[in-house]
Amino acid sequence: MTAFNPAHFRSQFPALADAGVYLDSAATALKPQAVIDASQQFYSLSAGNVHRSQFPTAQRLTARYEAAREAVATLLNAPSGKDIVWTRGTTEAINLVAQCYARPRLQPGDEIIVSEAEHHANFVPWLMVAEQTGARIVKLPIGKDRLADLNQLPDLLHARTKILALGQMSNVTGGCPDLAKAIGLAHGVGAIVMVDGAQGVVHCPPDVQALDIDFYAFSGHKLYGPTGIGALYGKTELLAAMSPWLGGGKMITHVSFEGFKTQAVPYRFEAGTPNVAGVIGLSAALEWLEDIDVAEAETYSRGLATLAEAELAKRPGFRSFRCQDSSLLAFDFADVHHNDMVTLLAESGIALRAGQHCAQPLLAALGVNGTLRASFAPYNTKSDVDALVKAIDHALDILVD
Ligand code: PMP
Repeated sequence: MTAFNPAHFRSQFPALADAGVYLDSAATALKPQAVIDASQQFYSLSAGNVHRSQFPTAQRLTARYEAAREAVATLLNAPSGKDIVWTRGTTEAINLVAQCYARPRLQPGDEIIVSEAEHHANFVPWLMVAEQTGARIVKLPIGKDRLADLNQLPDLLHARTKILALGQMSNVTGGCPDLAKAIGLAHGVGAIVMVDGAQGVVHCPPDVQALDIDFYAFSGHKLYGPTGIGALYGKTELLAAMSPWLGGGKMITHVSFEGFKTQAVPYRFEAGTPNVAGVIGLSAALEWLEDIDVAEAETYSRGLATLAEAELAKRPGFRSFRCQDSSLLAFDFADVHHNDMVTLLAESGIALRAGQHCAQPLLAALGVNGTLRASFAPYNTKSDVDALVKAIDHALDILVD
């Protein structure tokens, strides 16, 4: 691993040449040249599909595809690549757990605790499965610090609690609840925990064994990898006890008019030709990350968010929704609509997001109908902060009487 060098890091992202001031990495991270090269090489040089053919190019591709699964297991310290299921991303992974784990097990009156800070991806699948089974959704409210209030968790947990849905890091506030504490409490009543790692994985890949996580989901595109690929980690015994939800090629060992027998895990959950290019691109991202001091890069991008927050706090009406020391800065200005502000910022070449961030219950709890969100990555610079502040001053001049 080499020491983190912001200029060198930045030089590896060709999209920055055309992206203006890119402050939307929480929506999707830009791709380093290593990932672009691996994806291009896959399409130009590979021949064949995975897990289907005997010829050498297909065999080599299968080996690479399975090695990528092992690389994800290493990233999360999962016991084995067999505990990693390829999915389209976090959303699909959580839906898989809701439909394949929860739906056959939940009884009317069982409870699913969902934190108020969740992204819709770790919310709607539980609302759906509750409707399908007669289970109840129980809210774990946020506290004054805008984090899921784990002090309230013991009072909510009881024998009917089957699942706790909790994000590793909020995509709005950047807040990271104490996963170890939440998981310990949930396990105390025999509930399993679904951790949404979509935002957290790039900042701090978890040790799923040390934290005793039951299910963990993440998306490749937030980790410098391609879109359309992600992974679900599940404890071996949980995955092994689950039936598939998608039927088709390669998820079976036997098919006849009398029925079918399913493959072992993880292939049971991977019907049809998978996103091989996505897996290759994601594995290139993981390989590339091995050489990055992620902790130092993280300190650097948090520093930029802190700087932006301190500078913007000098403007009247500024309000920050930032939790802890995060690289995400959600904010607004009194009497300024976030959509007006983001339109003017876009005209000034600043790429950031405004709205409800797919977290309507959290926004409701925060008492706002939308915010702006600048999310900083290690390829950002202090001049990006300056450009943001300048563009906001320009917008405030126009929008505030
Ligand atoms: N959870 C969180 C916290 C997120 O930020 C996102 C992406 N915005 C998701 C889940 C969903 O990820 P994806 O769209 O890649 O499935």
